[in-house]
Amino acid sequence: MTTTVHRDLANRLRARFRGTLLRPGEEGYAEARRVWNGAIDRHPALIARCAGADDVQEAIRFAREHDLPVAVRGGGHSVLGYGVRDGGLVIDLSGLKSVTIDPVRRTARAAAGLTWAEFDLAAQRHGLATTGGTISSTGIAGVTLGGGFGHLLRRHGLTVDNLRGADVVTADGERVRADADLLWGLRGGGGNFGVVTAFEYDLHPVGPLVLGGPIFWPLDQAARVLRFLNDFAPTAPDELSVVLLAAPAPPMPFLPADRYGTPVLGLLPVWCGDLAEGARVLAPLRGTGTPIGDLVRPVPYRSIQSMLDLSAPAGTASYWRSRRLPALTGAVADLITAFVTSMTSPFSLVNGWVIGGAASRVAPEATAVGARAPGFELRLIANWRPGDPDPGRHRAWVRDGWDRLGPHSDGQYATFLSDEGPDGVRAAYGDRLARLTALKQRFDPENVFHLNPNIRPGKGEIR
Ligand code: FAD
Repeated sequence: MTTTVHRDLANRLRARFRGTLLRPGEEGYAEARRVWNGAIDRHPALIARCAGADDVQEAIRFAREHDLPVAVRGGGHSVLGYGVRDGGLVIDLSGLKSVTIDPVRRTARAAAGLTWAEFDLAAQRHGLATTGGTISSTGIAGVTLGGGFGHLLRRHGLTVDNLRGADVVTADGERVRADADLLWGLRGGGGNFGVVTAFEYDLHPVGPLVLGGPIFWPLDQAARVLRFLNDFAPTAPDELSVVLLAAPAPPMPFLPADRYGTPVLGLLPVWCGDLAEGARVLAPLRGTGTPIGDLVRPVPYRSIQSMLDLSAPAGTASYWRSRRLPALTGAVADLITAFVTSMTSPFSLVNGWVIGGAASRVAPEATAVGARAPGFELRLIANWRPGDPDPGRHRAWVRDGWDRLGPHSDGQYATFLSDEGPDGVRAAYGDRLARLTALKQRFDPENVFHLNPNIRPGKGEIR
């Protein structure tokens, strides 16, 4: 049964709210309760689409006065659908779109409802960028608060390493400028400490052209290519990032048609420095084995930032788990091959990230982000059509693979946390948890913001 907030009660908030309030059945509600993951089907009691930080204050105060559990929504890409909840109040930030670029100081001030496509468009008008998510519809908010992996991470660090300031509405409805302690927590500690309404980032000259594009090999060459990548990645210049995608070959014109649907290993290298030097650096990777397709070429940075969009269309049902790996050993390469050949859905994929360079040189205590040592993050992503009669088999494929990766792993990236529960939070934050729980006690002692990889206030416990 769908719970709603009584019209008279909603009208009390309406009287002091500039944005849009949506109750079940009202026009716009059905669209507003949808998130990226098509497996999520929740019915909030009230969706508060905020027009500004003042609306966020009003919404939080209203929720607390009326004992309504809160969900916070930025770009709506949480794989567990943390941006919506049954019977709760959704603080929807998707209408907060302002962005100001200072090309002289090379900084950006960006409202929390922006997607990376919108942010990159504004920054690239000045030839600037900061490390940001690689699917263009993802929200800057969730990506930033979890750490922020992107194609620039080896050159410019994680997104949080470029986060210089934040405006926050706290659990008691106050607007604050994040002090040093709070900013530390926002650099990786997720949505635990308040609702961020604006982020300030450092920007860097990037592009407009970078060198990049996918290279695909048949899966029987995966072991050789991964061995090469394992040795090559840690020593490559910082300008190079590499994303891994292993899956059935997509029906792309640059691949032979007889390979469509057959298992392949794909790498997406992106070089953000001098193009001629990048061509030299990338040559040995491109020359490894016998690729069946190689689309590496000079391409606008913004095109690279949306190149993977087709691998993650909104509305697909999805579930994932992820692990940090110090190395792509032979055993891990064998597992990757086994994962691809045992996929239960043609839309699923194995996704990996090379971690290193600038992201690994940031002092461990500087941010709440966990392990930063050079290595790899490997994620098993099951995707299937909503309505599939047996989604359990796709989830089981992920969990089984994740279990098998366990002995090869030494941690986990917070933003890719799924339903691992407290163990996952511990794996992601490690010895930062004590400081995070103290910060939670200071800013959200009643755990109003608990629909997230939750850090409990006070005692170093986690839920
Ligand atoms: P939402 O679902 O809107 O938010 C997720 C949670 O973040 C919220 O429930 C809340 O707890 C918190 N939150 C959001 N906004 C705020 C705010 N303003 N203040 C306080 N808390 C807030 N991660 C990477 O690092 N790099 C990637 O390239 C990347 N690609 C992805 C691609 C896809 C298709 C998907 C589904 C996820 C990807 N992720 C990536 C993971 C992503 O960073 C997280 O899922 C992130 O939480 C999504 O942010 P969002 O704002 O879109 O999501």
